[in-house]
Amino acid sequence: MSVENAANAAYLIAALLFILSLAGLSKHETAPRGLTFGIAGMTLALVATIALALSGEPATVGIVMLVVAMLIGAGVGLARARSVQMTEMPELIALLHSFVGLAAVLVGWNGYLAPELHEELEGALLGIHYAEVFIGVFIGAVTFTGSIVAYLKLSAKMKSAPLVLPGKNLINAGIIVAFVVLTVWFVISPNLWMLIVVTVLALALGWHLVASIGGGDMPVVVSMLNSYSGFAAAATGFLLGNDLLIVTGALVGSSGAYLSYIMCKAMNRSFISVIMGGFGIEASSGEGKDHGEHTEIDVAGAAEMLAGANSVIIAPGYGMAVAQAQYPVADLTRTLRDRGVDVRFAVHPVAGRLPGHMNVLLAEAKVPYDIVLELDEINDDFADTDVVLVIGANDTVNPDAAEDPGSPIAGMPVLHVWEASNVIVFKRSMAAGYAGVQNPLFFRDNSDMLFGDAKDKVSEILSAVREQQGANA
Ligand code: NDP
Repeated sequence: MSVENAANAAYLIAALLFILSLAGLSKHETAPRGLTFGIAGMTLALVATIALALSGEPATVGIVMLVVAMLIGAGVGLARARSVQMTEMPELIALLHSFVGLAAVLVGWNGYLAPELHEELEGALLGIHYAEVFIGVFIGAVTFTGSIVAYLKLSAKMKSAPLVLPGKNLINAGIIVAFVVLTVWFVISPNLWMLIVVTVLALALGWHLVASIGGGDMPVVVSMLNSYSGFAAAATGFLLGNDLLIVTGALVGSSGAYLSYIMCKAMNRSFISVIMGGFGIEASSGEGKDHGEHTEIDVAGAAEMLAGANSVIIAPGYGMAVAQAQYPVADLTRTLRDRGVDVRFAVHPVAGRLPGHMNVLLAEAKVPYDIVLELDEINDDFADTDVVLVIGANDTVNPDAAEDPGSPIAGMPVLHVWEASNVIVFKRSMAAGYAGVQNPLFFRDNSDMLFGDAKDKVSEILSAVREQQGANA
């Protein structure tokens, strides 16, 4: 068997392993297996690609460059993976997507500039080649700048408020129409200027699309860019004639698009408005409203309230991740459950800073899966609950989303924590959440604020609850 055939067979197996990996990642229980399939598929793909590169008549410079690039990439990747905090994952993912976009642009440009890639093609095949170059460069450039803006916004290096240029939708639509016209023109009579123009237009579109999207909607953007980066990789695969890249790109592209769709549904946004960018900007931020006074509770008061509770729901959010409070939260849960209290978790689909963020933290702290419920599964139960502990969540428990049509987050499904008899909100100040909107929950009669770092406060409550238990024993 030639090396090429063996590599193609390896690519096919790698593609199957990637599909098995995705299937495995869909459930907590099978996720580790899914990851193993993914790692195996990627290793196989890398080995096959290197073997293929070495089997031809490789230029020594090419091999040296390949090895050096892999060593640098692996070194940087390993170092980042070790040092990245869970809360920084979305920004890291956004940055990684920008590399995929840049790679697609470079491969596209190479597909035009390197004669050996198209000199044997003619007629329709040559036309298809030029269309692939143009489309690949376009998707890649949109992904590149869009991901950089998402990275800057998520890491707070750029203001997360949406950019509102006059006629912004017209700008986006105009660039897309120009792209379609230029693609046809480029296929008929390719020239370098058109490639330069489409690259600049696509870079501008990517920047503008994501800059026009405001804070609370960033999760959808991250998953949309994930999807774009997949399609950019698939376009690269067509150009390089690499089946594995086509399959993998299509998997990433379609699963990212599907995840974006699910998130849009969870946030009550329309997919089209996300693609066109910039929502929620007409609404007022609600800052000027007088919500009245908030009340505070201390650790002893919170422990006492828990002592009298039969049912408790914990609604975790980004603050739990920042404070790394999941371990004392899990200990508190065990202690209360041992006492016969019904304790459950309410996880909002966009709580934290990446999809599944809370589920990962709770699983890490060994909270049993069966008491971790999704928004739809638990939202009707708050009314019959004695105490809700809101631990570092803010936007995802904001009643304005359900009650004030003028709110920037109006229509986003939220956890109806305020329907419970008592709510304790753990946070450090009265500051707004990620979407920058004030939260009237803090001022409700049945809500009390417990100020301080969530990990410290939960640990103190845990000690107080254990002391009560000791005293009662
Ligand atoms: P928010 O981001 O709305 O609020 C988090 C709260 O945690 C803040 O109000 C902050 O208040 C508090 N906090 C921060 N650090 C601590 C700490 N050490 N101890 C105690 N409290 C702390 O949280 P949610 O999870 O409710 O909402 C997530 C938001 O992020 C949504 O707007 C969502 O759209 C967005 N988003 C979600 C993504 C996802 O995929 N899940 C991705 C990107 C964005 P204070 O400073 O006063 O302590």
